Amino acid sequence: MNRLKIAIQKKGRLSEKSKNLLSSAGFKFTNGGGLMAHGINFPIELIFLRDDDIPEYIDQGVVDLGIVGENLLEEKGYELEKLKALGFGKCKLDLAIPKDAEFKGLSFFQGKRIATSYPNILQNFLSSNGVNASIELISGSVEIAPTLELADGVFDIVSTGTTLKMNGLKPVFTVMKSQAFLVGKKEALENGIVQDLLFRIEAALAAEDFKYILLNAPESKVDEIGEILPGMKSPTVIPLKETGWVSMHSVVPENLFWEKIQALKSAGAQGILVCPIEKMIL
Ligand code: ATP
Ligand code: MG
Repeated sequence: MNRLKIAIQKKGRLSEKSKNLLSSAGFKFTNGGGLMAHGINFPIELIFLRDDDIPEYIDQGVVDLGIVGENLLEEKGYELEKLKALGFGKCKLDLAIPKDAEFKGLSFFQGKRIATSYPNILQNFLSSNGVNASIELISGSVEIAPTLELADGVFDIVSTGTTLKMNGLKPVFTVMKSQAFLVGKKEALENGIVQDLLFRIEAALAAEDFKYILLNAPESKVDEIGEILPGMKSPTVIPLKETGWVSMHSVVPENLFWEKIQALKSAGAQGILVCPIEKMIL
């Protein structure tokens, strides 16, 4: 049987999270320590690469799948399929300018120089907005460009905005939002191993957002408590040894649970347990 090759970032913001996702989806690997890891319980090979190389390797068929940021995928421009949004590596690509400059709209950039490591995304954006600006390609530390008078503005990845601020810049326009995706060629979806892998990844991702809730309640309050949490519409209700009391169990989105905790307690819920779910098959 052909082993599936999956490329993940060797070292950087996506590497740990990519490995954690695969391990929470149940895949185990040998500790190669080198540039590859071999799947023990599933026919996969993990290949560790610079993220910049991943889209091309998928396109060429050197690897079958990869985990990369949407930003990189868009910049590289290969026709690849985004198979699954993974919920991590969230960031934005923003245009930013010196903090004291006045910004009234995108025409600010007309005839200006913008420093970036994402020339293609920027060029497409500027063209579709009728802005003529010159793009200064810089591969790292883009934010320093205005200070060095290499550019009038920058176009770069922003998560908290601290780096921009430290360099006397302010974000003025978000061009795209990005997160990590499992990516492959369209044909990959026809591969049974890919389908199996996707199924397991989806089960692990779904489980992250939900908790298994157990609580004790007076039997007379079952309906009221069931109303409070939509996820609890049809909870399992088990009688306790003490007459008139039951234990209610349900699977609930975690954020919803915390919003409703006070209402649950006021309705008479006691001894509430919140348990992690390892996998969830929807
Ligand atoms: P490599 O050496 O593999 O080329 P890199 O320096 O290009 O690494 P990283 O900085 O590790 O890349 O970022 C990898 C990806 O993580 C980015 O393409 C983006 O999708 C996402 N990312 C980048 N910065 C942030 C951030 N501040 N917050 C969240 N995600 C980010
Ligand atoms: Mg890179």
